[in-house]
Amino acid sequence: MHEATVAQSLIEVILQEARKRNARPVRAKMSCGELNRINDDVLSFAFEAVAQGTPCEGMTLRIEHKPLQGRCKPCGRVFAVDVSNPHCPGCRSEEFELLPDAPLVLDEIEFERADDGEG
Ligand SMILES: [Zn+2]
Repeated sequence: MHEATVAQSLIEVILQEARKRNARPVRAKMSCGELNRINDDVLSFAFEAVAQGTPCEGMTLRIEHKPLQGRCKPCGRVFAVDVSNPHCPGCRSEEFELLPDAPLVLDEIEFERADDGEG
């Protein structure tokens, strides 16, 4: 299962950052390309499962899907490709090259603020 592998590596990166900062992570945001067929529900579920028993437990994970992009040959415009009707929104040309799919990246991690020395 693709999502389980993704969840595992996300948690590893988040835990590393959490150790560095000595803070508890509360939220994270990741993004991936259109062709990376991540199922949000399956990934969230896998993420929760992997997070159990770690400082990541109870975290919120947001997943953003980036559309596939193309570059128009006649006018050079870069646009989000609508797969059902692919054409340049600028000059309406159907001659374009597909750009590489956006990689899967962890964009942000938010940590709990622990600035009052309690305990
Ligand atoms: Zn164009």
